[in-house]
Amino acid sequence: YAKDNGRNNFQFFTPEMNARVSERLALENNLRQAIARNELFLHYQPQFDLQTGELTGCEALVRWQHPELGLIPPSRFIPVAEDSGLILPLGHWVLREACRQAKAWQDAGLRPIPVAVNLSAVQFRQARLATMIADVLAESGLAPRWLELELTESMLMEDGERHTTALADLKALGVGLALDDFGTGYSSLSYLKRFDLDTLKIDRSFVQSLPDDSEDAALTTAIIGIARQFGLKTVAEGVETEAQRAFLAAQGCTLMQGFLLARPMAGAELAELLETVPA
Ligand code: C2E
Ligand code: MG
Ligand code: MG
Ligand code: MG
Repeated sequence: YAKDNGRNNFQFFTPEMNARVSERLALENNLRQAIARNELFLHYQPQFDLQTGELTGCEALVRWQHPELGLIPPSRFIPVAEDSGLILPLGHWVLREACRQAKAWQDAGLRPIPVAVNLSAVQFRQARLATMIADVLAESGLAPRWLELELTESMLMEDGERHTTALADLKALGVGLALDDFGTGYSSLSYLKRFDLDTLKIDRSFVQSLPDDSEDAALTTAIIGIARQFGLKTVAEGVETEAQRAFLAAQGCTLMQGFLLARPMAGAELAELLETVPA
């Protein structure tokens, strides 16, 4: 089809593409106001120990309640925030809010659990990221061991030298480091040697077709085995069925996160779960 259009066809933007571009611009303008107007909030998805069933952690996931457009998922506004630079104030807000909530749970007498926060590659390129995080921790009063930062493989491949230092600076704060969506990017086993990570998160795309798909089963088993050799915890993402849970538990995966046991929920709901699920 593209070939038939020939060289002299300058119709680069289809009406659908134009619509998408103006939607992005509208989102970008709205996102600028969203933080100040308190339209952003966090949901927390629990993580459970695969051997004991205990609730042992959670991941903070940002949501945007737009006054006219309704609830907008992060897959739609995070890319806009990254392209426009708005991810820096947004990411700062997410960190502050997650640390505040984790400390509030502890102050309410609940059993402490770590909260994981997703970092964008744009934040990771910030020279003062470690200082910013140290300030957020100090301001919230949360001990660093209760914060885990989720990174992606694409961040680590950009510039090895600089990132080894950046990760070491983060690690020196005493926070945990997790590699998100493991296996989907330009996965390199050398990351495991070069960077002092604590957790590998096995991407949902591998978990989805377990245990029947023999290739995904082999990959998952291999990731869990390598992680164990390196002393890393594994978190299986997107566990939706009992068969997936049983397979992952049998392979020795450490934690699971998925709709089978819990969806992302408000902080108050997670507090209730923490009270009812015994330690
Ligand atoms: P992620 O970090 O890999 O987060 C896991 C995503 O999987 C979440 O989607 C979660 O709701 C979803 N999920 C969990 N269990 C299941 C399941 O059993 N089935 C299915 N179908 N999905 C499941 P969500 O909240 O829509 O977030 C999507 C992505 O947006 C995140 O993927 C992350 O990359 C990004 N994101 C979310 N919050 C933030 C944030 O505060 N900062 C940054 N930079 N990115 C964020
Ligand atoms: Mg994540
Ligand atoms: Mg993930
Ligand atoms: Mg992701």
